[in-house]
Amino acid sequence: MGNRIGIYPGTFDPVTLGHTDIISRAQKVVDKLVIAVAGNDGKGPLFPLTERVALLEDEISGLRTNGYAEIEIVSFESLLVNFAVEVGASVIIRGLRAVSDFEYEFQMAAMNARMQPDVETVFLMASDRYQFISSRFVKEIARLEGDISHFVSPGVSAHLKQHFGT
Ligand code: ADP
Repeated sequence: MGNRIGIYPGTFDPVTLGHTDIISRAQKVVDKLVIAVAGNDGKGPLFPLTERVALLEDEISGLRTNGYAEIEIVSFESLLVNFAVEVGASVIIRGLRAVSDFEYEFQMAAMNARMQPDVETVFLMASDRYQFISSRFVKEIARLEGDISHFVSPGVSAHLKQHFGT
């Protein structure tokens, strides 16, 4: 086994089937995958950090034994490129959805590369079944009592329903 460490940062508020798809793909391109859950930043996540990490833990438990990269879930508050270096990552994994993600991701990757040229950003695409899923819309649909079963796992769905009292 090699020692290429990849870091997959995100808010995961909450984790969706799109995130899980990216995680399982990322496992095939690195030797160890660090899922880095962003702290309670200015974007104001719906779920506190501890809950977002716990939901992710449940979500990926099945992926821990699939023979691909080992997974570690951590939280972080610092600048991503600095944190990547801290955990020894040489690759930042990001998922690309529609064209709408491109501008933001492009700017972030370019600025990160300028600050930390040794860490490469790699974009992965989710399966077309999951590409359109976003945590933001999942939360909105759940709040309005819509069916989110195609977008998140049963565990995450139950957590959202409990939160919104639906
Ligand atoms: P952030 O606040 O960093 O965008 P997110 O949790 O929304 O955090 O997303 C983390 C990463 O996962 C981002 O690179 C995002 O583009 C990617 N991602 C989220 N949902 C999907 C999806 N359905 N398909 C592919 N990539 C996704």
